[in-house]
Amino acid sequence: MAAKRDYYEILGVQKSASKDEIKKAFYKLAHKYHPDKAGGDGEKFKEISEAYSVLSDDKKRGEYDSYGRVFSDGAGPGFSGFGGQGAQFDFSQFQDAFAQGGFDFGDVFGDFFGGRGGGRVQRGRDVSIDLELPFKDAIFGTKRRVLLAKVSECEVCHGSGAKPGVKLDTCKKCNGSGKVHETTNSIFGAITMVQPCRACRGTGKIPEEKCSTCRGEGVYRKQEEVEITIPAGIEGGEMIRLSGAGEAVAGGVAGDLYVKVHVISDPRFKKDGANLVTELSIKLSDALLGHDYTVSTLDGDITVSVPAGISHGELLRVKGRGVPLGKSLSSSGKRGDLFVRIKITLPQKLSREAKKLIEKLKEEGI
Ligand SMILES: [Zn+2]
Ligand SMILES: [Zn+2]
Repeated sequence: MAAKRDYYEILGVQKSASKDEIKKAFYKLAHKYHPDKAGGDGEKFKEISEAYSVLSDDKKRGEYDSYGRVFSDGAGPGFSGFGGQGAQFDFSQFQDAFAQGGFDFGDVFGDFFGGRGGGRVQRGRDVSIDLELPFKDAIFGTKRRVLLAKVSECEVCHGSGAKPGVKLDTCKKCNGSGKVHETTNSIFGAITMVQPCRACRGTGKIPEEKCSTCRGEGVYRKQEEVEITIPAGIEGGEMIRLSGAGEAVAGGVAGDLYVKVHVISDPRFKKDGANLVTELSIKLSDALLGHDYTVSTLDGDITVSVPAGISHGELLRVKGRGVPLGKSLSSSGKRGDLFVRIKITLPQKLSREAKKLIEKLKEEGI
């Protein structure tokens, strides 16, 4: 859903727009649609914020530009969302700054949107892996389970860091709210950031005894199996992103897992959009008289009738043996076609007898 939106269009900028132009366009729109303002529009604000979070980040923008689509399992690319586990943002503090314009969003929003700015919101590392796929799996889509060694949430305490069943005391640092206010001074006055309490990892509770598996950290490095859904028709070089499947971090949000797909080619088939193309070598006599041939498809062998008089290079269409048109074979049931390109192979040597017959054909004007 979100991946199909054109972020440049949303911000009303050219594809070649500079970082500064993107920032300015975002300020202007954010100012107009800010949900706390009269006539504001929360949905619209989210949309432009999402577009900005991608286009203002060189890495994400490059990814968006070159892949066009980055398959994602959850939220839009690069957008951690509002009200997630990360720091909550106190918008009311910014009213004046908004009114004056020129507020530097980049600095604050970088963190808010899960960027790598000042690290106010703890965010786990992104993990990227390469995945080789047989041609057939790339065409039909598939599921893959991969084993990753990464920092993950503790399965014993589910990230709480508490030994299961022990008594929990109220955290003294945040008085049980799970949040701490941190105020920094800027030229616009004091800015208050609300973020998860580190002492209790945002839970507001301190356990009587720590979880022994993760030593109270809530996370630890281990092998974890991740299931990756490969959409039908994926091309080599395309990316699949699983948000939150990267490394976990105590009291913060997990990073993302990026899967770069490599497709092992199949010498029998070439992909051409939704269609597949295969070659079929036939004898000259079959080209002239017609003949049935067995042709390999991704669904097994089929018989194709080559009509008499077919020319070298001509294509025969086998309906519905191409690439699924939905994201998986089951989603629509419809598929592209398989084209069989005819290759007439001529004998390198002719027997005396064959030569005589061909000369006869020549006399017939063939
Ligand atoms: Zn634990
Ligand atoms: Zn606390």
